[in-house]
Amino acid sequence: MSKATIRSPRRDLMGSPVFDELGMERDPDNLYLQTVDSMLHAAEILELPHRVQIILAQPKNEVMVHFPVKMDNGHHALFKGYRVQHNNALGPYKGGIRYHHHVGLDDVKTLSCLMTMKCSLVRIPFGGGKGGIKCNPRELSEGELMRVTRRFVSAIADIIGPDTDIPAPDVGTNAQVMAWFADTYMEISDKPNANAVVTGKPIEFGGSLGREKATGQGVIDVLAELLPEIGLEIKGATCSLIGYGNVGSWAGKLWAERGGKVKAVMDHTGAIYNEDGLDAIALDEHVRNHGGVAGFEKTKHGADAISEEDFYSTQVDVFIPAALEQMITEDKAKLMNCKLVAEAANAPTTPAGERVLQDKGVEVLPAILCSAGGVTVSYFEWVQNRSNQYWDLERVDEELNRHMVLAARRVQLARHRFDVDMRTAAYIAALEQIGNVYKLRGIFP
Ligand code: NAD
Repeated sequence: MSKATIRSPRRDLMGSPVFDELGMERDPDNLYLQTVDSMLHAAEILELPHRVQIILAQPKNEVMVHFPVKMDNGHHALFKGYRVQHNNALGPYKGGIRYHHHVGLDDVKTLSCLMTMKCSLVRIPFGGGKGGIKCNPRELSEGELMRVTRRFVSAIADIIGPDTDIPAPDVGTNAQVMAWFADTYMEISDKPNANAVVTGKPIEFGGSLGREKATGQGVIDVLAELLPEIGLEIKGATCSLIGYGNVGSWAGKLWAERGGKVKAVMDHTGAIYNEDGLDAIALDEHVRNHGGVAGFEKTKHGADAISEEDFYSTQVDVFIPAALEQMITEDKAKLMNCKLVAEAANAPTTPAGERVLQDKGVEVLPAILCSAGGVTVSYFEWVQNRSNQYWDLERVDEELNRHMVLAARRVQLARHRFDVDMRTAAYIAALEQIGNVYKLRGIFP
């Protein structure tokens, strides 16, 4: 993946005839259209049949619900929730539930499409889905959060289930939210194994060992496999991270555990830096206690507070975005000083940002590969729930590593076979599987 092997920039943005055929606008700033464009670009190279391209360009189902919830002050508030089911050719829809004040239909559609690609790339028998509620969970009390979750489950109960659509945590949701989710569904449904309706549950309530760290661990598994291609190994290499929530903190801790240095971290509260490497475990504890990285510079662990601009400019081997979508814009990419970007978050790089990185010779390992560890262990959790088993952590870690390494190799293979960048190669490797399944199944009637 050295500079010389980065492929030439892509064809015209949104150049696929599918855009016209389906009446989709060519809005370069729309995240969903950008995502479909990248997918269709890969589909054209792979010569994926037209029928599969049009199916994958739009989600199968888009559900929006409004539901009232009694707040602590006695007042009722109306919430808006989404569940988008992108594709289920490979198995039940699978994908997280996000609680965030900026959640909107296009974001959820984008994330559901990425889930279809991710599941296919790591070869687990799931399709892609995603959901969310437009709310700020930080402003809700625990009781309000629980009531919002329970009302949302009751609103979408008819379209989810252990055999049809299995949600999971995402930004703003966690194992506790999944426990309320499962409990509500179990009350409503008479299905056997009803607790398998969600993954990412607490261990005591059917969760899998290793699920919490799985996405961060998957990022590290992929990097351990692919870094040697550019003459690096994690031991002694440096990284910076945007986001120190579930994914970012685990990626940071596991990177440090393997002898890498976490030089800089930025989240919604600020940015910090240590030339010799931040103490990843102490930082995790600080974030849990204080809600963000700000203030870590005042602790005994040694760090300097830095500006956002300095954070992006910090010289590192690997830059790991693990926060929200679209953070690496053209301007931010111009500041960046790294050899490789590993997308731990979903869709963190804008097309304009990616072009700048390509021009600089910076390779981008796409989210459908790097961040697939979470859904992979979610699949293990679902298997355990349905077969009444508990796997030990060693088994989970080994199986996760096997899936991630094979997926990374699949992407490398597609890259060499088609002479494309890593994002296109990852889409090709994912689409190949879906294309084969459609060929076998045919299209009803
Ligand atoms: P999280 O809520 O635990 O953490 C989100 C992090 O983003 C926090 O550190 C927050 O401070 C940071 N952040 C928010 N706004 C920011 C801003 N404006 N500037 C800088 N930082 C900001 O969420 P998570 O579960 O760690 O998810 C992070 C990303 O990884 C998301 O894109 C999510 O879709 C993706 N992802 C998560 C999982 C999973 O298993 N949790 C799986 C696959 C992909």
